[in-house]
Amino acid sequence: MSFSSLGLSAPLLKAVAEQQYTQPYPIQKEAIPAVLRGRDVLGIAQTGSGKTASFALPILEMFQGKDPIKNRYVKVLILVPTRELAIQINEVFHAFNARLPHKAKTMAVYGGVSINPQMMQLSGTEILIATPGRLLDLVSHNAVKLAEVETLVLDEADKILSLGFKEEVDKVFALLPVKRQNVLFSATLGEDVEAMVTRLLSNPVKIQV
Ligand code: AMP
Repeated sequence: MSFSSLGLSAPLLKAVAEQQYTQPYPIQKEAIPAVLRGRDVLGIAQTGSGKTASFALPILEMFQGKDPIKNRYVKVLILVPTRELAIQINEVFHAFNARLPHKAKTMAVYGGVSINPQMMQLSGTEILIATPGRLLDLVSHNAVKLAEVETLVLDEADKILSLGFKEEVDKVFALLPVKRQNVLFSATLGEDVEAMVTRLLSNPVKIQV
């Protein structure tokens, strides 16, 4: 099976080829079509499985043919446990974005650095990759608005919870529109992740690699 049978358009397939990806990894074979169809997805997958491209590609596809936004209402929110993961995911989006007709504006925000430059750069961001605490700070400064989020991705959900971000992510969920697509990745499926899956995902496509 090749990338061309997963529902991605020609520009995205070109972006994939430029990254020297020849065959989709198992998680990508299942997650890409499901995310493209707007389904909720539960992926039990480790780092190294190719999980990042499995959500980055269909998300970038959703922006093709759309006008850029000019406000602070992000359309896709990707919640991550650490600054390192935020930066890494943003780099993957950048690599695929490079040759696309509509380059979705992506940005990574995380704590431990000054908030002002992040506040100034946020306008027009379509895809926001964020750690929970800094995201709430930015929301309280009105630097980002979550009321128009169409797709929520939780990456490394088990780590988000083990690092003690439960309260923060609950506050974030309360700010999102009720009608949205939810994608959750976790390396493990313990009790706390299960509880979040039950609460967050609606009839998800379940993928275990
Ligand atoms: P991830 O699990 O998302 O951190 O990806 C792990 C590594 O696999 C990254 O270095 C990706 O660039 C690479 N990768 C992801 N998908 C593919 C693919 N289909 N073919 C070759 N390399 C890939």
